[in-house]
Amino acid sequence: MSEAKKTTGYRGRWAWVDLTDRTVRVEPADPAYGRDYVGGRGLQARLMADHLERTGPLQDPLSPLNRVVVGSAALNDTAVATAGRGSCSFVGTMARSPRPAAWVPGHKPVYGLLTHSSAGGLFPNMLKRAGFDQVVIDGRADRPVRLEAVEGTLRIVDAEDELFETVQGRRVPRAASLITDFLASRVKGGSTLTVGPAGWNLVDFACLTADYHRNFGRGGAGAVFGSKNLVAVTAYGKEAVAYADAEAFKRLGQDLDKLIKASVDDPNRTASFRPTTGTTWWLDRAFNGRYLGAKGGYLPWHNFDEGSFDPGDYAKVSTDAFLAISGKHSVCNKCRHIFCTRSAKVDAGPYAGEGVRPEFETIALWINCCILDRDAIFHLNALCNELGVDTMTFGSVMAGAMELAEKGFLAKFGEAPKFGDAAGMVRTLKDIAYASTPLGRLLGGHSDRVIAEAAAGASAADLAAVAYCLTTAYGGLGYAGINPKAFPGMFTAYGTSNRGRGDHTYAWTIQAEEGGLKDARDLAAYVAEGQGGKALVDSLGLCDFFTGDITAEPFLSLYGALTGTAYTPESLKDCGRRIYALERRMNNLQGRDRTYDAYVAPKLKVPLGRGAHQGRAVDEAFYNSVLDAYYAAWGWSRDGRVL
Ligand code: SF4
Repeated sequence: MSEAKKTTGYRGRWAWVDLTDRTVRVEPADPAYGRDYVGGRGLQARLMADHLERTGPLQDPLSPLNRVVVGSAALNDTAVATAGRGSCSFVGTMARSPRPAAWVPGHKPVYGLLTHSSAGGLFPNMLKRAGFDQVVIDGRADRPVRLEAVEGTLRIVDAEDELFETVQGRRVPRAASLITDFLASRVKGGSTLTVGPAGWNLVDFACLTADYHRNFGRGGAGAVFGSKNLVAVTAYGKEAVAYADAEAFKRLGQDLDKLIKASVDDPNRTASFRPTTGTTWWLDRAFNGRYLGAKGGYLPWHNFDEGSFDPGDYAKVSTDAFLAISGKHSVCNKCRHIFCTRSAKVDAGPYAGEGVRPEFETIALWINCCILDRDAIFHLNALCNELGVDTMTFGSVMAGAMELAEKGFLAKFGEAPKFGDAAGMVRTLKDIAYASTPLGRLLGGHSDRVIAEAAAGASAADLAAVAYCLTTAYGGLGYAGINPKAFPGMFTAYGTSNRGRGDHTYAWTIQAEEGGLKDARDLAAYVAEGQGGKALVDSLGLCDFFTGDITAEPFLSLYGALTGTAYTPESLKDCGRRIYALERRMNNLQGRDRTYDAYVAPKLKVPLGRGAHQGRAVDEAFYNSVLDAYYAAWGWSRDGRVL
C-alpha cells in the first residue's frame, strides 16, 4: 500500500484481473490519465479505448474479449455532497444491431457501444477504501467466480454454492439481496455489487445491483458479468484518501456545502423538491406542468403514442400517489441535503412489501405501458432490483411487446401481457430474467432479433408493422420518460448519447425548451455542451443532482486542494470534451455513424393526439438540420465521425 500514500485524492492503484488466466496484477495508476481524463467515467473510457485500439472492433459484447472496468473518482469518499457515485464501463449489449435489418433505411451494423453506467450506494466508496481506484476485468472464468477486494488485496474466489439456486432447470444466482446478505457474512462490513439471474441468463438489459437497490442500470453490465462467469465483487476497507491540502479542502468544502444547501432551500429551484419527492416530481411536471413546469402533456402513454391521458386515471400514479407510500430517506453514501431516495412501503394487497420508492423514469416508462397501479409499479421495481433487470429498458421493451400482443404478433410465443396488465408484466419480468419461456427468451434479446423472430415468415407489410411497435429497434436503449415527440432538443439528446439511442442522462433540455429554446443551432450547441459537462460530472464521481458549479473557481480550488491538480475553467471543460470525443471515436470503431444517430422510429413520426403538445411529432428534416449543427459543434464530420 506504500504507493497509495504518494497520491492524493485517488488511491493510486489499479487492479488488472484476467479471469481466463485467473491472475490479478496490481499496478500504480498512471497520473497523466488522471489529469487528462479526470477519473471515473473519463479514466475508464481511456482504459476501454486502450483495449479496443489493441483488439480492434469488438463484434460480440458477450465474448471474453469484452472488458469491464469498475471504479471511482478522486472526489469519491470525500466529504463533498453526493460524492458517492461510482462508474462501470464496458461495451454494451443493448446498443447493437449486428445483422442486416430491412426495417432500418440504409442499415449499417453496430456491434455494441462503449457504455458507461453510474451508481451510488456505498460500493464505489468502499472499493476506494479497499485501496483500488479501478478494477479492470478481462477474459472469462471457466467456472463461476467472484472478486473480493479487502484492505489492499484483491483475489478471485470460487463462487460458493450458496450463491445459486435452480429455477426452471437453470442454475442461476439467487436474488441480489440474498447474495448481498451472504457475502456480508463472509466479508464483515463489506459492500457487494452483484449480477442477478437476468445477467446470468445474458438478458441484454441486465444490470448490476449494489447495496440492494443501487444499479449500474443501462446498457447490459449484468449480461457482461454473466458472460464472464462473474457473480459479484465485494469490497471492504478503512483507509481514507490523502489530501494535497486538507485544511483548504475542509474550508472550501464547507463553503460549497452552504451553496448546495441554499439551492435546496430555494423554492424556485427544482433542487428544493428532491428531499420530498425525489425524482417523482417530474411525473406531475410532465403530466400537467406542476413543479415550475409549463403545461405538461409529455408523459408517455400507450408506447409513446400519446403524452397525456385521463386526469382521473393519472391521480392513481401521480407524484402524490408515490409520496403517500414514501418513508425515510435511503440515500447514497456521502449524500447530503439533496437526499432524493426514500424508502417505500405498500401495506396490503397482492403487492404488499417494503423497499425503495421507484424513480421518475421507471414509473413514466411503466405508465407508458398503461399501468395505473401504483402498488404494482412499486412491486415491479423491487423485483427488477432482485432479478438484476434495468427498469427503463424493461419498460420500453414491454411497451413494444404489449403493442405487438395487441396486434396479434406474439401469439406463437405464448401468453403476452396487453396494455394495462400489471400481473402479466410481473409474470413476463420473471420469464425474461429466468429465461424460462419462449416469450421470455425472445424479449430478453436485443430488439432487432425480436423483430426478426416475431416477423419470421410474414409479409413485408407485417414486418413493417412489427418494427413499428419497437422503439428500441436498431440498437436503441429505449427512450426515457419524456415523450420524444414533444421536444426536438431532447430527441437530439436521445439520438446522440454516446451510450445509445434513448439515453437521457448525457444531456437534458426540457427546462430550456419549455423556456423557448428552439433554433436548430442553439439546440445542437446546448446538447453538445451538456454532453461534455455530464462527462465531467461522471468523471468526478458526483451525482446528476449535484447543484454546485464544477467549472467555477471555488470548485476548482477545492479539487486542487484534494488532488494537487490545477485546472482552469477551460482546461477542465476540455477534459469533458476530450472524454466525450474519445467515447464517440470508440463508437465509430464499433460501427456507429450518422446512420445510427439519424434513425427515427416510425411511430415517433405520428403526431400526438391530445394534450399540450397535440400535433407534435419528430420532424425528420428538422432533426437532420440539428444533427448537422451538432456535428459541427463537436468538430466532427458530417457523417458523425470524430476527425
Ligand atoms: S441526490 Fe439521490 S442519487 Fe444523488 S447522491 Fe443523493 S441519494 Fe444518491
